[in-house]
Amino acid sequence: MISDLLGRPLRNLRLSVTDRCNLRCEYCMPEDDYKWLPREDLLHFEEISSLVDVFTASGVDRVRITGGEPLLRRDLPTLMAMVSSKPALKDLALTTNGILLADQIDALAAAGLRRITVSLDTLHADRFKALTRSDELARVHDGMQAARRVFPAGFKIDTVVIKGVNDDELADLIEYGRALGAEVRFIEYMDVGGATKWSPADVVSRADILATLSARYGAIAPIVEESSAPADRYQLRDGTVFGIISSTTQPFCGSCDRSRLTADGMWYQCLYATQGVDLRAALRGGVSVDDIGAMIRGSWSARTDRGAEDRLALGDRRAFVPVNSLKKDPHLEMHTRGG
Ligand code: SF4
Repeated sequence: MISDLLGRPLRNLRLSVTDRCNLRCEYCMPEDDYKWLPREDLLHFEEISSLVDVFTASGVDRVRITGGEPLLRRDLPTLMAMVSSKPALKDLALTTNGILLADQIDALAAAGLRRITVSLDTLHADRFKALTRSDELARVHDGMQAARRVFPAGFKIDTVVIKGVNDDELADLIEYGRALGAEVRFIEYMDVGGATKWSPADVVSRADILATLSARYGAIAPIVEESSAPADRYQLRDGTVFGIISSTTQPFCGSCDRSRLTADGMWYQCLYATQGVDLRAALRGGVSVDDIGAMIRGSWSARTDRGAEDRLALGDRRAFVPVNSLKKDPHLEMHTRGG
């Protein structure tokens, strides 16, 4: 297994299969227009599969399919089957906004999907509409029910918490998750590409989330576990478990083993990275898979990224990428690199 210059292994790959999304969340896609990746640049399933082979040969054993909204990618179960057949993979997960999930979950599970995370930031229809510019909350609920049916052992619900928007719903979301057998993870609002309206005043910190929940539920116990997962997990007195991803106030770059491959084959070693490695150009330019593997390992060996920690050290923070830069380079967008 190869490690970067901070001793972090290359292990988790977030595989974006499309930059398109059927929502327009305020913290990710607040603009009216977007520059999309050219269709001809999108990796074909065979190309993605080849790159997954190269990554697994270099140490990756966990893949998460992301987007944009990954269920918008046509024939996704076909890709899922191709990826799930890789013997080196220990985990194959998917993050979705849930709108198309009820229709596709059976095919995805049959194709080898093992774990699922559904994003949901509010239980209020009016807020959902304001936050996402979509009326599809009922379909998200349908997707959650489908997830419960197909993954009875549990699944995750991810919630970005924004002050004055949904920070009064923390307990309601815990109850919602509990009723579905799902573990809710609260994510601090991040200043990363796409979050052009981000302001430090909008962040609800891990400390604030815990204070709110302990006022409702009493003592909250941290769960001590060895993990490179971004969420720290906690337990309520009745045994209900939830997580907090404190990327903004207490980043976890020190154990970050994640990298991201965009739908057009750019590989980024950090959510905040401004430079990527163009694996599509290598693949389509006839570079051998062995040499692409050497590129990946060489690049990871030199990795020093600690984007969220660097941002925290800045003190005076505002949105990471100004909107005019995002318009010039869609690779800087969070919806392009899979959040
Ligand atoms: S900011 Fe970069 S290094 Fe830090 S946890 Fe996120 S992806 Fe990993």
